[in-house]
Amino acid sequence: MERLMKCGVCGYTTQKEALGENCPKCGAPREKFIELSEETSDKIRKADATNDLHMDIINLAMAIEELANEGIELDLDPGCVDAFEKAIQAAWEMKQISKAELAIHMNKNKW
Ligand SMILES: [Zn+2]
Repeated sequence: MERLMKCGVCGYTTQKEALGENCPKCGAPREKFIELSEETSDKIRKADATNDLHMDIINLAMAIEELANEGIELDLDPGCVDAFEKAIQAAWEMKQISKAELAIHMNKNKW
C-alpha cells in the first residue's frame, strides 16, 4: 500500500498523487507535508473505512427512528406503538454507541 502524506500544520492527510501545491485544508505549502510510515498509513486507511461504517450505522439508526415515528403516528394498536417505541430506543442506543466510538477515534487521531 502506498504511504499517505500528512500536513504538518493542520493534520490533513492525503495520497501523494492527490497532493497539490498547497494543503486544501489550511493552505500550507506542499513542503510542510510529511510522508507517513506504511504502518501509520495502513492504520489511517482502516480507521477511515471503519469510521464510514459507523456513520452508515448512525444513518440507518436515524432511518429506523423515522420509520418508527411513522408507525407511532398510525397508532394501529398499543402493541404496535410499543414495538415502535422500542425500535426508537434501540436505534438511539445504536447511534450513541457508534458516536461514542467515533469520538474515541478522533481523540486517538484514528481518522
Ligand atoms: Zn494543512
